[in-house]
Amino acid sequence: MTPLIDPFARAISYLRVSVTDRCDFRCTYCMSEHMTFLPKADLLSLEELDRLCTTFVRLGVQKLRITGGEPLVRKELPEMIARARAKEGVEDVAITTNGLLFARRAKELVEAGLNRVNISLDALTPEVFARITRGGKVERVLEAIEKALELGLHPVKLNAVVIRGMNEEEVVPLAGLSLDRPLHVRFIEYMHLDNSDPEAYRRRFVPGKETRARIEAVYGPLEPVPHDPTSPARVFKIPGAQGTVGFINPVTEPFCTHCSRLRLTSDKKLRPCLLTDLEMDIAWAFAAPEPVEALVDAILIATNRKP
Ligand code: SAM
Ligand code: SF4
Repeated sequence: MTPLIDPFARAISYLRVSVTDRCDFRCTYCMSEHMTFLPKADLLSLEELDRLCTTFVRLGVQKLRITGGEPLVRKELPEMIARARAKEGVEDVAITTNGLLFARRAKELVEAGLNRVNISLDALTPEVFARITRGGKVERVLEAIEKALELGLHPVKLNAVVIRGMNEEEVVPLAGLSLDRPLHVRFIEYMHLDNSDPEAYRRRFVPGKETRARIEAVYGPLEPVPHDPTSPARVFKIPGAQGTVGFINPVTEPFCTHCSRLRLTSDKKLRPCLLTDLEMDIAWAFAAPEPVEALVDAILIATNRKP
């Protein structure tokens, strides 16, 4: 096994794989209304995921997060999870989902070996939620959260991106979800991922500090909670709460020092860092005569290029 260590001595312990670019929502901060998507045949196949998992094990990476787009729009998701978990050395398989299809498919995902789920929830007020997601129904996401708790997934994390003029007032009720249930609500600073209209981005950006102040104005000072130093979230708790409240501040407090991740995009490009445009096309490696060896090389190169 070759441990995956980058030039800054950061161990890569975690791979985030996007299995589709499609989604059944159109969140305003993530997608435009009229998207064109990759042909389905170009997405990661089950066999390719299998090769990727063999590669991870070879490189000592134990954790896999499946994301998208929306991973649940891939019918084969349970099979993907099962194949990943079947590899000796893959300890933990998680998904990040918008929750729309989760409640109805959760049981098969858990039976396939799903360990953890992050569910995105940007607002509790139905109208605000519908505005952000361009028509999404918040009840479906709340059902997803209930289902995840009922099936004993642990921890259940909720992700909220905070956007000025949209949902900055929702952060108080969202934080309140952590009071009497073991829910871990994380507030994420809006990132300027598509580089369009910098002025509009600046207007919509809310610093994590402001979000925290809004929550503390209602619930009082948050208590720090010890947490995994490689996690991007700074974690706190409302005194007496069962769950936690976390802040992921990639813009005002970049967590590069502890970054332990690599990402594979849905068009099979490795991205060593989310905050730069750096990417390496590795589609060829899946089709190489010795795909695992080719993938190991490609991943080592990407790791070496982590800024
Ligand atoms: N569709 C799934 C979901 O929404 O959870 C998984 C993919 S989504 C791209 C993964 C996460 O990225 C979500 O929590 C989403 O809110 C977050 N996200 C998307 N665009 C973002 C942006 N511009 N800034 C910060 N977070 C963003
Ligand atoms: Fe993007 Fe996820 Fe929203 Fe879909 S649900 S538009 S992938 S943030």
